[in-house]
Amino acid sequence: MRLDLSLESVQEGIWVSGTVNGTAIGECGRCLDEVRQEIAAPVQGLFEYPDSRAAGEEEGSEDVFEFDGENLELEEVVRDAVVTSLPFTPLCDPDCPGLCDQCGARLADDPDHAHEVLDPRWAALQSFTDEKES
Ligand SMILES: [Zn+2]
Ligand SMILES: [Zn+2]
Repeated sequence: MRLDLSLESVQEGIWVSGTVNGTAIGECGRCLDEVRQEIAAPVQGLFEYPDSRAAGEEEGSEDVFEFDGENLELEEVVRDAVVTSLPFTPLCDPDCPGLCDQCGARLADDPDHAHEVLDPRWAALQSFTDEKES
């Protein structure tokens, strides 16, 4: 993760804005393959001094974090930015065919993968033709 932030001192605290760049690693929602996704998420947040909030400010607004006057808890603002930029279900490919529901094989590796499903009513006939061929 690479942070590219600028900090600006404002009346209520410190205004942080910038971008976070990095690679998110997840799991394909269909075939469970590892998915790496480059992300570049905008980061912004206001780190408010605790006492400035008592001055009748709106509470509960987004992108507002508490600032104890010493340490900026950047982790939270960065995590928020990253999470909102990620897709809900990551996919290794938008057309990922997923896994075979019979044996769990990865269909993207084997596009012709199929199982012959014989109707039991034909099974007798199948063994009959096998015998004839041999
Ligand atoms: Zn996949
Ligand atoms: Zn299969």
